[in-house]
Amino acid sequence: MSEIEAIHDLSDRDNTAALQQLKAYKEKIGANADYGLRAELLKTLITILYDAGKNKEANATNAELMQLARANKDADMIALALIGDAFQLLDQGKFALALVKLGDIQQSLRDSKNFEVLMRLNIAFAAVHLAIGNFDKSLAYSLEALRLTDHIPNRQAQARLYRMEAISRLYLNMHNAEKALETATDALAITPKVDSPKTVSSLTMARGLALTDLGRYAEALDAYKTVLQIATEAGMPVVAATALGNISDYYLRVHQYDEAEQAARKALQKAQEIGDPFAVAMAKANIGFGLAGQRKFAQGITYINESKKYFMETGSRSDMESLLSEIGSMYETAGMHKEALAVVREQQKLSDELFRSDRARAVATLQEQFNAQQRQKQIELLGRENQLKDAEIKNRQLQQIILMLAAVVMVMIGIVIFFLYQRVRKTNEKLREVNQQLEFHAVRDPLTGLYNRRSFVDLMKSRIILPEGERREGSLENPDCLILMDIDHFKNINDSYGHAAGDVVLMEVAQRLRSTVRDTDMVLRWGGEEFLIYSPRSNPAQLKNLVERILRIIGEDSVDVDGIPIAVTMTAGFISLPFSGIPEMVCNWEKALQIADMALYLGKVNGRNRAYGVSKLLIAYEDALPVLDHDLSAAIKAGMVELIEVHGPVKVHAGNVVETVAGAQCHIERQDK
Ligand code: GH3
Ligand code: MG
Ligand code: MG
Repeated sequence: MSEIEAIHDLSDRDNTAALQQLKAYKEKIGANADYGLRAELLKTLITILYDAGKNKEANATNAELMQLARANKDADMIALALIGDAFQLLDQGKFALALVKLGDIQQSLRDSKNFEVLMRLNIAFAAVHLAIGNFDKSLAYSLEALRLTDHIPNRQAQARLYRMEAISRLYLNMHNAEKALETATDALAITPKVDSPKTVSSLTMARGLALTDLGRYAEALDAYKTVLQIATEAGMPVVAATALGNISDYYLRVHQYDEAEQAARKALQKAQEIGDPFAVAMAKANIGFGLAGQRKFAQGITYINESKKYFMETGSRSDMESLLSEIGSMYETAGMHKEALAVVREQQKLSDELFRSDRARAVATLQEQFNAQQRQKQIELLGRENQLKDAEIKNRQLQQIILMLAAVVMVMIGIVIFFLYQRVRKTNEKLREVNQQLEFHAVRDPLTGLYNRRSFVDLMKSRIILPEGERREGSLENPDCLILMDIDHFKNINDSYGHAAGDVVLMEVAQRLRSTVRDTDMVLRWGGEEFLIYSPRSNPAQLKNLVERILRIIGEDSVDVDGIPIAVTMTAGFISLPFSGIPEMVCNWEKALQIADMALYLGKVNGRNRAYGVSKLLIAYEDALPVLDHDLSAAIKAGMVELIEVHGPVKVHAGNVVETVAGAQCHIERQDK
């Protein structure tokens, strides 16, 4: 790479030597060398070939570079070769095609950071716009190319100087010779920093052209001479030929025809050496004018006609036109008016044609430019469309992701809700259980499972009490019955067998009571060892039997507690509700229960294991009440009430033979008996 760079640097001083060395180097490394090396070599070779005026070879090398870059899929290098193609189109006068091609390349380089290629692209754009007279655009591209030189990896200074030279020539084309001169002079001021005679010669030439335009011929001549010297030394025949042509032109301008002819002949030689037909034709025309100036008309016209023939053949009408104008003034100077007139007519005809064809070409160029712009727009639109499509696809993908996420979230929420629901259900179940338990414990006695006192009181409170005079149907025939019971000497049981045994006894008593009564009867634990049976709508005739059955079921068989038989008896007091047909408004359940309690107390007093029922009131309630209210015994003695006595089973305890009285004694005692 450094060797190639060294050769490139050499080309600034000696293009011919550089070309030889580079070709030799190309042979040496062969076709199997590293791609990067080969590409760099071809790139440099193309530049040097153009400077040597070997355009055909340069174009062929460009094609070689293209093939190599394509084989190696090097987008930037392909673009560079394509830019070379665009320059060829420009040389062929195919401006619009060149613009389209450059537009395509620009599109392909959208994201490129290869500043050298980008610079070349801008140079090419500038050249094409210059050719079609779009000076403003050309200047813009040139300035952009100049800016990009700051970013290229090597030979920055040289590149910068070349850009300035191009800008100088551009100003000249814009008829701004002052600016052209200024730019070229500015650039020349920094050339000593770069050892590049080639650059110096180009800039000096630009300076000379600007000076000529400004009419500063002497200075211009100096410039051209300098260029000629450098170009000759550095092996740049194209530049040398141009310099000689310009020198000849200078002498013609200052009417030094001999010197003009001399310079033109040297230019012709150079042009023939490099095989540039245009330069040859130009040189021949100058020789012709030089000779004519020296009044050697016949000789001069031969050269001029040769030149004319070339321009006619190649169709370079504008060159032809300016040539004819020169020829015309030449004939005039020679006093050959007939010839001069003929030339003027020829020129006129050509000028008309030129004007027409120029106009047609301008229209065609405009049309092509328009087409190129349209194509450019189309490319941009396509690009935008693709971007839109990309965005659409991205959008759709995003939507799918969102939908998927939403689905996942929904499923997760569903799972959470399911678990929450399960928990709530379990909690509810528990709550129901607890509530049931609470309800149970609110109405039930926890030890025996019987209804408790509160539930009975609640039941009584909800009892419909009919006003006096109105009777519940069948309430007299089938009144409700209340039997209040109390275990005898229960304290002794507790004391003898322990409290736990007492509990067992309580449970057993409860169980026995429940088994004795109807399902519709209600058995309650009234307090510690007191029980209450509420038997709704019972037959009064059956009541004694029920009480007797109760006493027997409790007292007949002892309660077994851990293998120990415990004898248990009960004493009871019972009453009907309504009591003795008295309305409940007058004698309510509490009053009735109070009387039953007094009957129970009587049973205790009279020896326990028995029951007393207050069955009937024998005098008016109002009259009986003052006594009955607190002293049942007194009421009995006073013959106010009818009493039923029921005896429990008779047993002999404490290890003695248990003797049971067959059948409980039951009789009605009247106080008067
Ligand atoms: P009386 O024949 O005169 O009724 O004699 P008593 O010993 O049964 O009567 P008292 O009222 O003197 O004794 C009742 C005892 O019942 C006192 C109390 O410790 C006991 N008791 C009350 N509730 C319970 C209970 O739930 N479990 C046990 N084991 N004992 C209880
Ligand atoms: Mg008691
Ligand atoms: Mg008791």
